[in-house]
Amino acid sequence: MKTLTQTERTQAKITPEKAIELLKNGNKRFLENKLLHRDYHQQLDVTADAQYPFAAVLSCIDSRIPVEVVFDQGIGDMFSVRIAGNILNDDILGSLEFACKLSGTKAIVVMGHTSCGAVKGACDDAKLGNLTQMLDKIKPAIEQTATEDGEARNSGNIEFVNNVASKNVELTIENIKSQSTVLKEMADNGEIAIVGAMYDVKTGLITF
Ligand SMILES: [Zn+2]
Repeated sequence: MKTLTQTERTQAKITPEKAIELLKNGNKRFLENKLLHRDYHQQLDVTADAQYPFAAVLSCIDSRIPVEVVFDQGIGDMFSVRIAGNILNDDILGSLEFACKLSGTKAIVVMGHTSCGAVKGACDDAKLGNLTQMLDKIKPAIEQTATEDGEARNSGNIEFVNNVASKNVELTIENIKSQSTVLKEMADNGEIAIVGAMYDVKTGLITF
C-alpha cells in the first residue's frame, strides 16, 4: 500500500465520513500488525511549508496509547490533543477550533480508554495538588453513570470505571458543542464530524 502525505488537494477531497473511515482503516492495520511503511524524511519534505491534517483526536496522556501508532498515521495526518482523562478546557477548545476552522480538519474524535488512571482517580475522589481540580472535570460522568444496588462505585469496579470513561467521552462531545459556537456551527453544517471512541488497552481495538 502506498503511503500518502496529506496536501491541500488531498485534504480538500476528504469528507468527515471519509476521515473517520481513514482512522478506522488505520486501527485495523494496527490490529493486523500491517502498519504502512512510511518514509518520514519524504513526509518532512512534503509538509515543511504547511500542514493539511484530516482529523483531530482528543485523547488521554496514557503511555499505552500512542495515538498516531494506534491509528497508523504519519507526519501531517492528524492533530493530537492529549490530556489526562481526555477532558476539555478553553485552551483545548481553542486548539480544536484552530484544527477545524483554520487548518481544514474534517473530524474530531474524542477517545477515552479502558482502565484509565484519571477516571479511576476521579472515581476514588483522589486529591493531589493540581490533579484535584482536573479530576473534578470527570465528576459529572461519574454522577451520570448508574450502578446496581450494592455495586461498588470506585476503581475496584473496573466495569464501572470503563462505563464512566465512556460517559466522559459522551459529555466531552456535548461540552465541545455547547462551549464552542465555531465547532457547533461546523458540525451542524456537515463540515466536520464530532464522534466518540473507546480504546481497549488490552487489545488495541478502537470502538467508535
Ligand atoms: Zn487515561
